[in-house]
Amino acid sequence: MTIPVQKLKLVIGPARSGKMITAMGDVMRRAYEKGWITTRDGNISLRRKGSNIMYITPSGWRKTILHPEHIVRVKLLKSSLKVPEGTVPSGELEMHHLLQRIHSSTKAIVHLHPTNIIAAMYAGWDLQALSAEFPEVSRYTKVGPSVPVLPVTSPELAAATYEHMTRDDKIFFDIVGQGNHGVCSIGKNPWDAYEHIERLEHICEIVLKSGKKVSNNT
Ligand SMILES: [Zn+2]
Repeated sequence: MTIPVQKLKLVIGPARSGKMITAMGDVMRRAYEKGWITTRDGNISLRRKGSNIMYITPSGWRKTILHPEHIVRVKLLKSSLKVPEGTVPSGELEMHHLLQRIHSSTKAIVHLHPTNIIAAMYAGWDLQALSAEFPEVSRYTKVGPSVPVLPVTSPELAAATYEHMTRDDKIFFDIVGQGNHGVCSIGKNPWDAYEHIERLEHICEIVLKSGKKVSNNT
């Protein structure tokens, strides 16, 4: 069957945007396979250019069975949020909201608990200084200063993550570590944000395997 060109264009538009919502679940499944989250951990949000809708993962849902129909659609109002009745968005909603409200292009924000990054921070490594030593990270990913240890899902964690990811209220870094907890990463789609995490996780694994210890000078 031949589809007229005009109709084809109409099909391509929504299908493309739907792809990113599907990718939210795909990224979480990959993160689970990698051991970077336990079943119900981690969260992702997505906000498209010019839209006042923030798509976000539901709270406590098993990320291995996360599909587009489970994603919560939160409306961004001037200084607040409108959560649809009967839905429970991620406990890290405030962190996503603070970062998603300040940009004008399409952005995905991914929060995971990647083992080697957390281990490296726990051992005292400065992620920013480490990334500068490895071109595979520094060429493609801007690592920000790590956020100190703060309670999970707290307003303090949300505010500190925002401060460490931004400069002059603009998104400046691609990823920051969060002490004893995880990372927050931003990209133009869920897989782009995932790749920032993957690169940093890879060099942290290398550093930890090297057996080198943090010296007082670093
Ligand atoms: Zn977390």
